[in-house]
Formats: sequence, C-alpha cells, structure tokens
Amino acid sequence: MADCLFCKIRDGKIPSKPVFEDELAFAFRDINPQAPTHILVVPRKHIASLNELAEDDAALIGHLHLVAQNLAKSEGIADSGYRVLFNTNKDAGQTVWHIHLHLLGGRAMAWPPG
Ligand code: 5GP
Ligand code: ZN
Repeated sequence: MADCLFCKIRDGKIPSKPVFEDELAFAFRDINPQAPTHILVVPRKHIASLNELAEDDAALIGHLHLVAQNLAKSEGIADSGYRVLFNTNKDAGQTVWHIHLHLLGGRAMAWPPG
C-alpha cells in the first residue's frame, strides 16, 4: 500500500528504531511510548485492521504473539508482566491502518483500560 505508514517503515522509506525482523514480521519502538517498553509488532503483509483478517492469516497472528513473547523476554519484562493488544477502529483509538500488536510493559497498568 503506497500511502501506508507501516508499509513505508517496512520498506525503509521512513526511519524507525527496529528491534526485530523475520520473513513474516518486523518490530520497532513506538514513536510516542506509553510505557518504558512500547514496541509495535507488525506483519509484513498489509492488513488494514483486524476486521480484514482472513482464515489464512491465523498462523500469522499467532506468530506475532510469539515475536512479542520473545521481545518481552529480551526487554526483561516477561516476568514482571506486559500487555499485548490490537486497537481496532475508532472506539479503540486505531490511527494506523496496518495492523500492529502493541507490546507494553515496564510499569504496572490499570484494568479496565481507559
Ligand atoms: P494505533 O493508535 O493505531 O493502535 O497505534 C499506532 C501507533 O503508532 C501509536 O502508538 C503511535 O505512537 C505509533 N506511531 C505513529 N506514527 C509512528 C511513526 O512514524 N513511527 C513510529 N515508530 N511509531 C509511530
Ligand atoms: Zn501497510
């Protein structure tokens, strides 16, 4: 998608602070972190939101969570705890239309979320 921010980061057209990449996914630090660790885990494939997810994407979504698990370990937050989430559409506050798993940790978080 030519005008997609995260496709541009994937393709190196916009700089980021990368922390991981493989054949299916890439991950980089959020530009406006909401916790001491705030990483976005993104599939290489452009999928606009969870509403566009297909059956064939099931393994990909599982893979993103395994990437998040590994990053939580390397960030030192696996034991203290962390949160992973996809925001979807307006009420959840989605602002970038290429799905991304937020990995947040390094501080205690409230529940329910705001
Ligand atoms: P959403 O609100 O769609 O769930 O999350 C989008 C996230 O992308 C936000 O947390 C925002 O701070 C982050 N973001 C937006 N633009 C950029 C950017 O250019 N670089 C990086 N690293 N993060 C960005
Ligand atoms: Zn995209």
